[in-house]
Amino acid sequence: MKVVIVGCGIVGAAIAYELSQIPQLEISVFDRQAPAQASTGAALGVLMAAISQKPKGNNLKMRLMGIQTYDQWIPQLEALTNRKIPYNRQGILRLCFAGEDLDRWRSLAAIRRSQGLQLELCDRADLLATYPHLSLDQVIGAVYSPCDRQVDPTALTLALVAAAERNGVAFQFNTPVVLESSSIQENSGKLYRLHTATGTINLDWLIIAAGLGSSSLTASLQQPVDIRPVLGQAVQIALENPVELPEQQPIITGNDVNLVPLGNGAYWIGATVEFSDAKTQDRATPQPSADSLEAMMHQAIALVPALKNATIIKQWSGLRPRPEGRPAPIIELLTGYSNVILASGHYRNGVLLAPATAKKVREMIQEIN
Ligand SMILES: Cc1cc2nc3c(=O)[nH]c(=O)nc-3n(C[C@H](O)[C@H](O)[C@H](O)COP(=O)(O)OP(=O)(O)OC[C@H]3O[C@@H](n4cnc5c(N)ncnc54)[C@H](O)[C@@H]3O)c2cc1C
Repeated sequence: MKVVIVGCGIVGAAIAYELSQIPQLEISVFDRQAPAQASTGAALGVLMAAISQKPKGNNLKMRLMGIQTYDQWIPQLEALTNRKIPYNRQGILRLCFAGEDLDRWRSLAAIRRSQGLQLELCDRADLLATYPHLSLDQVIGAVYSPCDRQVDPTALTLALVAAAERNGVAFQFNTPVVLESSSIQENSGKLYRLHTATGTINLDWLIIAAGLGSSSLTASLQQPVDIRPVLGQAVQIALENPVELPEQQPIITGNDVNLVPLGNGAYWIGATVEFSDAKTQDRATPQPSADSLEAMMHQAIALVPALKNATIIKQWSGLRPRPEGRPAPIIELLTGYSNVILASGHYRNGVLLAPATAKKVREMIQEIN
């Protein structure tokens, strides 16, 4: 059975790896660029599951599945591909500020305990003792989640591609895909082919994991799904004096700014959340705002004053794919088609939700056949 995946960000790569474990499938992946160049290439890979404020439900299940799966996949992928995938298992420390209700966190910690997960509440004295590099102005306490993680999204995607390739998946990069609604079999609702610059490909299943590109692909199939860009800016900094901060650290997050330790005094700081101005530009792609970047850096320095003397060594922005008017992500059969699965619109958590997405796509293909 021929399966074609369009898109090789973290979502397409995770689906390719998961499906590559089913021997009956002949799998091809197409991307109009190299792998992990779009949203995935900009992501920080912070994986917030237990610390997310969702008490229960499907989204929490998918988040937890992400962490459980990465705990298994990452050592497997490193062994299979001989590649290093930076994976921070020191947990996530979320700072709480004046005005926040710590009782909400106490209740969430109790719920997590009943779910077999740990969330630890820290007071200011705990924080001063364990994290002397943090400034605690306005900080009233923190929540530490030992089971949450962070992974390098690009290294992970490239390892998934290499491992899937070893399992027989064919990848074609720099190859845009074109879809036509006329390629549908009237009686079965099956899309039976697609086009690339190098030819026409026949297929049994199509998986659209094209992030923001999914909007125009679904529009070509006369079933437009509205997915819009939300911009994020991030920076990599190097500390003048790396010994100022301890090497083994959790990810620190406060007021929606993440500080991701990379080792040797380097950090990722991110990311801003910037929408297009709906009033004036409608669906125009948002442009990076200098003010948003400055506010983010200001916030980061307020948390860790040593960052004031750091050098910015890299700065970038990316576009998150956000479904308009409905929750993220979208993992479902495309309306009107019996063999086209949309696995897109992961917005702010595509790295975290990629494993659960891949497992759901696998179930859908196995159930329907
Ligand atoms: C600054 C920033 C920080 C982020 N931080 C985090 C984080 O900490 N944790 C987290 O979980 N998530 C984070 N995200 C979100 C995460 O990056 C996305 O949710 C995720 O990368 C989406 O993956 P994807 O594979 O669906 O999309 P993409 O990575 O955008 O990949 C889609 C691919 O489809 C290809 N494509 C599109 N159209 C076509 C076509 N017609 N033919 C062929 N190929 C096509 C594109 O070239 C692209 O490679 C962040 C995002 C940004 C921008």
